[in-house]
Amino acid sequence: MRIRSVEACQPISKNSPPDWRTSFGQILVTVTAEDGTVGYGVGGGGLSGIHIVNALFREQLIGRDVEQIESIWKRLHKSLLTVGQSGIGMMALSGVDLALWDLQGHLSHQPVARLLSSDCDFESPIPTYQTVWGEVPEEVSRASSGVKLHLGTNGKSDATLRDWLPKWIEETRKAREKIGADRDLMVDAWMSWDVETALAFAHEVSDLQLVWLEEPLPLDDHEGYARLRDECPVTISGGEHLYSLAEFEASLQRGDYQILQPDVCWMVGLTPLLQLIELAQDRQVKVVPHRGSEVWALHAIAALPIERLAESGRPWMQWVIRQPEIRQGTIQITDLPGFGVRCDPDAPCVREVLRSDQSGRFGE
Ligand SMILES: [Mg+2]
Repeated sequence: MRIRSVEACQPISKNSPPDWRTSFGQILVTVTAEDGTVGYGVGGGGLSGIHIVNALFREQLIGRDVEQIESIWKRLHKSLLTVGQSGIGMMALSGVDLALWDLQGHLSHQPVARLLSSDCDFESPIPTYQTVWGEVPEEVSRASSGVKLHLGTNGKSDATLRDWLPKWIEETRKAREKIGADRDLMVDAWMSWDVETALAFAHEVSDLQLVWLEEPLPLDDHEGYARLRDECPVTISGGEHLYSLAEFEASLQRGDYQILQPDVCWMVGLTPLLQLIELAQDRQVKVVPHRGSEVWALHAIAALPIERLAESGRPWMQWVIRQPEIRQGTIQITDLPGFGVRCDPDAPCVREVLRSDQSGRFGE
């Protein structure tokens, strides 16, 4: 079956946060086969991502055989040489790759998880963890398998990391008290700490059984990550901001992270994730996809030999219809074809470049 058309847009929902997640937010890629069957994928990069799909990828896709996902991926990836094989180009390619997997699922009447593994388990619920900013809400503390605290400065304060440290330690202690000893607790510093802060924090909370400390340092602080690997009493995770197999491979060789968190909507899609899992297994590194409860990663979690643990998703992406819900801290995929979701044809879409302070007006 050949590809008839390719479209990309950025659907907007009212509660989309007023930051880069809107202005360079998730794009929807729609690939239609010549019989009219549609596949949806979600990538990133906002209007820049849309432009790459339209200007670089579309011509190369139309007329190609849908089933040749890997060779299509290689061709599109090569064409990114002109604009750089990292960042936004990879986010755009992720949307195309996921749309092709979805389309192949619809054409074969199979869920993507079954395309990935013939003996995929559709029955067992997958535990989830909820990512929170600030205090852990009561409902989350009661009905979630785990909690991840965001403890960064968000660049909005003149206070030093040393000033922040006691507050972060206290928030982590309070969270552990609130969720009890039996639930998972993690911390995400979103690349905003330095190595001394990370070590001081980790030693202070070493009695709290943190499952991981996520992205404590800037991505390029390789020396810092090497120190954490040798000296930190808490497991270090990261990878949502790595955009290619080459970047993951280099990171694995350095040993930056003991847990990898690829984002399939940013890291070039599902096709390279299959290779990444093999690379990680070779080095005994766990893989826990970023935003795992969104279907684009959830099918991989259900079907592939990686951790059965899914992060809460982006609630403002209401234009994704039939996304499975988290119930009592767990989530399940359905056996519907493709990724099992459709996208709202009436969702408002971005037609012009957004500034972050404009984002709240879209979708109203
Ligand atoms: Mg993170």
